Amino acid sequence: MFIDSHAHLDDPKFESDFRAVLDRATKAKIEKVLVIGNGVSSSKVDSAISIAKKHQWLDVAAGIHPHDAGTATGDNWIELTRFAQEEKLVAWGEIGLDFHYNYSDPEVQKEVFIQQLLLAKKSSLPVIIHTREAETETLKILSEHYADCRRQGIMHCYSGSLSMAQCCLEMGFYISFSGILTFPQAHEIRRIAEMIPLDKLLIETDAPYLAPVPYRGKRNEPAFLVETAKILASIRNVDIETIAKCTRENYFRVIYRK
Ligand SMILES: [Zn+2]
Ligand SMILES: [Zn+2]
Repeated sequence: MFIDSHAHLDDPKFESDFRAVLDRATKAKIEKVLVIGNGVSSSKVDSAISIAKKHQWLDVAAGIHPHDAGTATGDNWIELTRFAQEEKLVAWGEIGLDFHYNYSDPEVQKEVFIQQLLLAKKSSLPVIIHTREAETETLKILSEHYADCRRQGIMHCYSGSLSMAQCCLEMGFYISFSGILTFPQAHEIRRIAEMIPLDKLLIETDAPYLAPVPYRGKRNEPAFLVETAKILASIRNVDIETIAKCTRENYFRVIYRK
């Protein structure tokens, strides 16, 4: 059984065949999916939570994505704090910094990131971190505002450097790899995936984005997670059952252990 530690199942791309997507996931032995409810409007996060409420095997996270940091308001903080009380909500995220697109002003992104780390800490929830072209700033903020936290978190869709991965591991974070691992050019990411301790590894689809080979370019979905598990097994020279078992145990440890 596999656990998809990151998927945007509330995305409109899943509206027309949602039931079939879930059925295919079940057939592909996906035991659990962490549904990421991002957004600055409560309706957006609400939809992720209501999806998870309808399906017992789906977990949910909520937070303000760095892309949306610029439009976050005081009301959003109140809403998110309310969502944090929901039983189905198991993590805060995805949050972080994205200086590749810079859809929101970098200074605002930093502020919104810090605020959410503090709220996650207060709510005793692990965090899901998104970081792109912002390694130094992300590490600085995590070490200043989160390193002392008992609850750890997940560096999602890891695409950073080896040294950043080492810093994150030292802070207690788990490293999650996506379908990028299967891309022909992703030599460096595969090299890093080989070096992360087995008890810190996670896998995810980040569906509907980043479909792995041989589905590259198509809409991604949880059933395709198996391709990422397969390549990770071959990189690590272990069987796929070992990857399934470790990533499953790691998910339970980082998400549920209070
Ligand atoms: Zn992300
Ligand atoms: Zn995501």
